[in-house]
Amino acid sequence: MAQNELQAALRLLPSVEVLLRDPGVAESTRGFGHDLVARLVRGTLDAWRTRVRRGGWDADRVEGALAEGLLLRDIEEAARGERGRGVRSVVNATGIVLHTGLGRAPVHPEVAERMAEAARSYCVLEVDRFSGLRNQRDDRLGELLVRATGAERGIAVNNCAAAVLLVLNTFGTQGETILSRGELVEIGGSFRMPDVMERAGTQLREVGTTNRTRIGDYRSAVGPTTGLLLKVHTSNYRVRGFTEDVSPTELAELGRETSLPSAYDLGSGLLEPEGVRPLDFLGESSVRDAVKSGVDCVMFSGDKLLGGPQAGLIVGKGDTIETLRKNPMYRALRLDKVSLAGLEATLERMLDGRAESIPSRALMLLPPEEVLHRARALAAELDALGGFQAEVRADASQPGSGSAPDVFLDTHVVVVRHAELSSDALASALRAGDPPVFARIHEDRLLLDPRTLLEGDAGRLVEACSAIAGAPE
Ligand SMILES: *Cc1c(COP(=O)(O)O)cnc(C)c1O
Repeated sequence: MAQNELQAALRLLPSVEVLLRDPGVAESTRGFGHDLVARLVRGTLDAWRTRVRRGGWDADRVEGALAEGLLLRDIEEAARGERGRGVRSVVNATGIVLHTGLGRAPVHPEVAERMAEAARSYCVLEVDRFSGLRNQRDDRLGELLVRATGAERGIAVNNCAAAVLLVLNTFGTQGETILSRGELVEIGGSFRMPDVMERAGTQLREVGTTNRTRIGDYRSAVGPTTGLLLKVHTSNYRVRGFTEDVSPTELAELGRETSLPSAYDLGSGLLEPEGVRPLDFLGESSVRDAVKSGVDCVMFSGDKLLGGPQAGLIVGKGDTIETLRKNPMYRALRLDKVSLAGLEATLERMLDGRAESIPSRALMLLPPEEVLHRARALAAELDALGGFQAEVRADASQPGSGSAPDVFLDTHVVVVRHAELSSDALASALRAGDPPVFARIHEDRLLLDPRTLLEGDAGRLVEACSAIAGAPE
């Protein structure tokens, strides 16, 4: 197309100023403030100019598109995108129970209520309400952790990564931390054990080999500069075949023998009520067992298998925990009142016989016939919407978040097809919808796994699909 034709087409586009005065734009960007509206309008116009140039749109084409109101529709879309950003509730139909991208463990509604209450009001945090004296913010949580894990004492920080950092910085500084080569893991989000050690101010002393490490390897590495004996759970991967690792019991014994502190980073943190082990099938080491092994401290996450809010919990020997508390770094890593309230409520639930009501546990323990029943009901509702075809098929859900990476849970999924949209387009429409829905795509099919639907989610999911079914193309 000739340059002058292109210029003529571009000149048809309204200016930013004109659009800012447009009542339609004002309506769709209500409450946004001038600068944000101007940015959205400018961005949309830029995209249109590019489209006109690249697509070789002539004046007629631009005029037609403007007459159809497509520019205003794009601004409206941009405004909707702006409103829909940030942390918000979504429907998780992926079947991954602890989905890191979707916020890991959803807490029980009553736990959420306790958290909301702590957030919106003043609360008893660092004062004893009966004596009126100052106390520690995690005194109550510490007691609950002792009861739940059998440890002498407990302390809480922001997440398990922070727990590891605190332990390394407390015991490893000015010396070496001994760790098996088979456990030099990356946990995700660039949290790599060797890098964390460096930042924590301890020197990594690797021992053994990738597939086999014995306690003798640790023992021969102990010297005058050793600060800490460490074991890390290889959460998100498994070394199989000709393997051998050091048990926490052996590590604890070596610690006593050499008067060195021993620590076990458990990560996933399987914590069950005493004598009840329905999640044993996950093959994860339990926090209680790790404590029983005699290591000085055990670190685990609050929002993995425990099913509480994000936190890093450290339990173990009384003097070890007190030493951690005295590290000035603890002040920078400690938990806020909202998470503390949520953890207390989650652990109380675990301890008073209501463990099975903790949502992430309940989802993992959902009987296959119940999932099948829910899948059939969901498929029937989706099938009844115009444009959708749904069928039920056997598949597998996952615990997620690096917990039990090779364990799959029998499930039934709803395989959904849309008359016009490809699986990817449907998935992206569902993510952008209200409420946003996250599904699983497998072999170009969109799968909805009812296992991870919480109370009321099935209805919200059908509503979201119905909005897509009825949407004009
Ligand atoms: C997940 C994990 C962590 C990190 O826990 P966050 O709570 O996400 O910080 C640390 N160590 C291990 C072994 C883990 O599995």
